[in-house]
Amino acid sequence: MTDDGPPLWTPLHGAEHRVALEVLIHGPLPRSELARRLDLSAPSLTRLTRPLLESGLLTSADPAQHGSNGRPTQPLDINLDLHRFVGVKLTGDVAYGVVTTIRSSVAESLERPLIDHRPDAVAELVAELIDQLADGRDPVTAVGVAVGGKVLADGSVASSAYLDWTDVPFQRLLEERTGRQVVVANDLVAWTEAEHWFGAGRDVDSFALLTIGTGIGYGLVVHDRIVSSEDSGVGLAGHFPLDALGPRCPDGHRGCATAMLTIGSICSSVGVPLGRTVGYDECLDLAAQGHPIAGRVVHDAAAALGVLVAAIANLTQVDKIILSGDGVRLAVVGAQAMDEAIRANRSTWASDVDVVVDPSGFIDWARGAAVMAIQRYVLGDG
Ligand SMILES: [Zn+2]
Repeated sequence: MTDDGPPLWTPLHGAEHRVALEVLIHGPLPRSELARRLDLSAPSLTRLTRPLLESGLLTSADPAQHGSNGRPTQPLDINLDLHRFVGVKLTGDVAYGVVTTIRSSVAESLERPLIDHRPDAVAELVAELIDQLADGRDPVTAVGVAVGGKVLADGSVASSAYLDWTDVPFQRLLEERTGRQVVVANDLVAWTEAEHWFGAGRDVDSFALLTIGTGIGYGLVVHDRIVSSEDSGVGLAGHFPLDALGPRCPDGHRGCATAMLTIGSICSSVGVPLGRTVGYDECLDLAAQGHPIAGRVVHDAAAALGVLVAAIANLTQVDKIILSGDGVRLAVVGAQAMDEAIRANRSTWASDVDVVVDPSGFIDWARGAAVMAIQRYVLGDG
């Protein structure tokens, strides 16, 4: 610890920064493994880690607990007690907030109903939520807020259908109200970065994240870097054509991803012929029980999901495809139809697609917002 607060990441650079980052993302790591990952000699690693251990940024686990055959492995880890981050995810009707460690483990969570969508009212409510979450024993290092929609590099929201916003300087509004540095980002970009650094994408070089729920979300990491632009929040995968015989989406496309895979579309495809309102879980339950109408709709939706998964694998050659979002149970109930469609749309010479189902909730989306703050802090603005 220094006199004026915890040791900071900001002055770290070069190899020292790479060591700290590797331990943050992949730790705890034995020294030998860390040296191998960074292609460093043992003496170089010792020289680089000494100031990090002395400042308290890194910790060394007790070798007595980890030794094997008398040889201590001395795994290195990040000191998780030094920093806290706040993440907030906005949907159309709720603000979900979390406090996390620097490795994005959730320590606390809160949620507040979002009734008034006027930008000032939302900023006021989110600022209150941030203050409430930050009101702990230790200071908060940085704050991230995730919004569905098109978010520009300066944290302003160019458009958000969920909030009915156009050109709202949301990051500035939050910074003015909280007196803190805040990073506002698109929610899919935030969730993709959470999977990239601390989730199912942590140990692969390239992966795609596909979320199904109210809408369709898509994120891509290639060669360990997210592929993103201001258009990431436009919903580019939402109208990808999947089934020439499927229902139409509100934009008129027949069998696009929105028409085939969203919760609302599946519920209405089952509910209309039954002449009543049917919830999403009931649709899936009925299908699992062999109900003919629900069974057909869910089969077709799961097959369409398989077509989309195969298209992503074919066009991007990623190592892994993570399925998530509040509609992801489709991939479980319809696993057989999805797998058959993936196989039918892949070359027989192609590798199997590694599909991972991640049943995360909105609290985990808020975690993604915290990850944006963590990345901004440890990587700097550049
Ligand atoms: Zn469409």
